[in-house]
Amino acid sequence: MNKKAIVIGSGFGGIAVSLRLKKLGYDTTIVEKLESLGGRARVFEINGYKHDAGPTVITAPFLFDELFSLFNKNREDYLDFVPLEPWYRYYFHDGKTFDYCSTVEKTNEQISKFEPNDINGYYKLLNQSKKIFDIGFTQLSDKPFISFFKMIKVIPNLFILQSYLTVSQLVNKYLKNPYLRKAFSIHPLLVGGDPHTTTSIYALIHYLERKWGVFFCMGGTGKIVSELKKLMIECGIKIKTNTEVKEFVVENNKISKIITNNEAITNFDLVVCNADPPMVYSNLLKKYNLKRPFKKEKNLLYSMGLFVLFFWNQKKI
Ligand SMILES: Cc1cc2nc3c(=O)[nH]c(=O)nc-3n(C[C@H](O)[C@H](O)[C@H](O)COP(=O)(O)OP(=O)(O)OC[C@H]3O[C@@H](n4cnc5c(N)ncnc54)[C@H](O)[C@@H]3O)c2cc1C
Repeated sequence: MNKKAIVIGSGFGGIAVSLRLKKLGYDTTIVEKLESLGGRARVFEINGYKHDAGPTVITAPFLFDELFSLFNKNREDYLDFVPLEPWYRYYFHDGKTFDYCSTVEKTNEQISKFEPNDINGYYKLLNQSKKIFDIGFTQLSDKPFISFFKMIKVIPNLFILQSYLTVSQLVNKYLKNPYLRKAFSIHPLLVGGDPHTTTSIYALIHYLERKWGVFFCMGGTGKIVSELKKLMIECGIKIKTNTEVKEFVVENNKISKIITNNEAITNFDLVVCNADPPMVYSNLLKKYNLKRPFKKEKNLLYSMGLFVLFFWNQKKI
């Protein structure tokens, strides 16, 4: 097969799809508007200090392993994922701390510092989280909800899983201590969500973390991006940075031309655009009144993403 694919955006999504398309036999080019790869996971260097712009912890390491194994390579030869202990440390306003640990036993010891009776509630919370995971992650996470009917089909399951509850309502059902209630409700914050309004489907993370663990990549997340770049080069993917897609030209319901700041690309069989969808519909496809799988941008309510503060001790460095 000598088909050509263009992938737009070099975040983890774009990088992963480029590798998968290459494996399927496509002559693949990845196009990125910035000068470096990684998207939200790219690296900033300020005054000689390197900062990972976004993600820091890995909760589904097998997804990275899979990308290397597509080309008969071992992720371990490129990247060293180190299990974290504790997974998270919470600092409360009054100086109390709570360590959310890698085993249920260690976590229970921490829970008992606040409220021993909540250990039983934590087991129940984990059990409910597994039920949500078995449907929300195993069955639904790779399904696109682009049609109303597809969404309707999952409603009975969502009802059984009590997805009408928010994350904090679900956690509060099982835990009584106010500190623990806060600690076990934070996961929606990872995607800019409010635990008091985000559906309890998001509580599946409790079980997901227990299933695969929480890891840090030695060298930081930037190291993952640079090693995936190495893998893309090794398997022959072409990389174009400083190339911003300005417009898609659509003919007969198909993209016939990709106009960038540098060139017009016409020679391709497949386009995958992994930029933020509202931006794609409102800017890159604005001339065409295409049906969107979500509300028009002006009607969307945006939330803030995760905000990360880095601290360093200059003296120690
Ligand atoms: C602060 C923060 C912390 C996070 N922490 C974690 C964590 O610890 N663990 C975790 O698993 N997840 C975490 N996340 C989430 C994770 O970072 C994202 O889910 C993931 O990086 C998104 O990847 P993506 O490929 O979908 O999109 P992006 O990374 O957004 O990639 C999109 C790419 O498209 C490019 N692009 C856009 N428009 C165009 C155009 N017109 N032409 C060419 N290129 C274009 C952009 O420049 C960008 O490089 C965090 C996110 C943030 C913001």
